[in-house]
Amino acid sequence: MNFIQTRGVAKNTPKTVTFSEAILAPIASFGGLYVPETLPNLGIEFLNKHLNSSYKELASDLLNRFEIDIEQNVIDEALSLYDKFDDSSNPVPVIKLKENLYVSELYHGPTRAFKDMALQPFGKILSSIAQKKDENYLILAATSGDTGPAALETFKNQKNVKVVCMYPANGTSDVQRLQMVTEDADNLKVIGIKGSFDDAQGALKTLLASENFKNNLNEKNISLSAANSVNFGRIIFQIVYHIHNYLELVRQNGIEIGEKVYLNVPSGNFGNVLGGFYAKEMGLPVEKLVISSNENNILTRLIQTGIYDIRDSELKLTTSPAMDILKSSNVERVLFSLYGADRTRELMENLDKDNIYTLRASELAKLQEIFIADFCGDDEGKSYIKSVFEDGYLMDPHTATCFKTYKTKSNPNIKTIIYSTAEWTKFSPVIANALTGENDTEDIKALESISKKANVEIPTMIKELFTKKIIHDTVIEKEDIEEEILKFL
Ligand SMILES: *Cc1c(COP(=O)(O)O)cnc(C)c1O
Repeated sequence: MNFIQTRGVAKNTPKTVTFSEAILAPIASFGGLYVPETLPNLGIEFLNKHLNSSYKELASDLLNRFEIDIEQNVIDEALSLYDKFDDSSNPVPVIKLKENLYVSELYHGPTRAFKDMALQPFGKILSSIAQKKDENYLILAATSGDTGPAALETFKNQKNVKVVCMYPANGTSDVQRLQMVTEDADNLKVIGIKGSFDDAQGALKTLLASENFKNNLNEKNISLSAANSVNFGRIIFQIVYHIHNYLELVRQNGIEIGEKVYLNVPSGNFGNVLGGFYAKEMGLPVEKLVISSNENNILTRLIQTGIYDIRDSELKLTTSPAMDILKSSNVERVLFSLYGADRTRELMENLDKDNIYTLRASELAKLQEIFIADFCGDDEGKSYIKSVFEDGYLMDPHTATCFKTYKTKSNPNIKTIIYSTAEWTKFSPVIANALTGENDTEDIKALESISKKANVEIPTMIKELFTKKIIHDTVIEKEDIEEEILKFL
């Protein structure tokens, strides 16, 4: 199957590209994104067929339905990375919390957050395309904390790919930082930027626009690619678990095949819930996709009012940093699906030019048929962490936002699946504070106190981080980043 462009096609640009092309160079004409030309129609038949399949069998069949230009042995190799998850036979456990309420845990991979779900297999696929074409790629990543570790982990020692990961020196949790700076492989470089995540992302943008940098890469025969969440190579793997979760509810006798459910997703760049959107479009019985946000509530406002307005919005730093975002890139793919390329281009150009776009009433109605949304403040989030813990379930601050929407937006008679996107170990100071009121700023103390309070072990891979050798100790001003990267290359 080929891929087309959300903002239409610029002159001299091919009308369609293959999957490999779309993932090597993910930005399309007019700054748009690639989307599949058509979606496979799966329907109930597909669900019946996979009722007893393993996660990998389900994933493999789904990928095949997209007819992507990747050989089966590469797909198999990529999917075998799910064997590294806690339970290789079930990488995504679905837990029943109470009548009609389930949690899908997407964090059982090597870096303990949901980014592994897609980046693990994606890394393998990208590297194998690069090897086959005999080309070398540089992946640049700016991270607020979860993408960086997951990208480094997946590309570690992969041939024909180098990764440079930039993080805000004081903007991540200790665990997130240690996961990055202790990664030891010749093809990886981790750089702390003095400043915030915006500074790290700004440094990346400046770099991408630098002629000098491009010329230098050309001389070295290196092309740039991206592993960020707009890459369809990530999205495709994020469709699988929505279907898996549904089948798990059937297997646990929670629902009958065909019964509609709510999928409740803590959302930032909209990549996770976009997978759910595609699954629904392909026939998964979903009543509504529930968007849960933090105080950066741009998505809530879009879905409630039809207006995407960031004119006066300032990014707030919250206790759910992976959702601290104003320009939520993957929304564009939904605009395209619902309103077509011309209108998408118009809306996105409005946003680029004026920092606002407004949907027509009929367009908003279409959006609201599919999505509902609400947001959760930090203090509210902490109170959910505490009360849900008292009911027997330990969760992180991103997941906590879903309990707000569950209360305000869901119909309790319809089954809900909440997505848990990070293990408690990644955001321990906030959780410890919510559970006991203490104010540890160091992760190690918070981890120990949660471990005691909740009677859970700190996973070995997290504990080991604190004694592992620091490999990357570079912390620099953003102005010096280009030189630092060229030195590494
Ligand atoms: C990335 C991330 C999210 C947001 O996912 P999107 O696909 O960007 O919407 C939520 N929670 C955690 C822990 C994450 O790492």
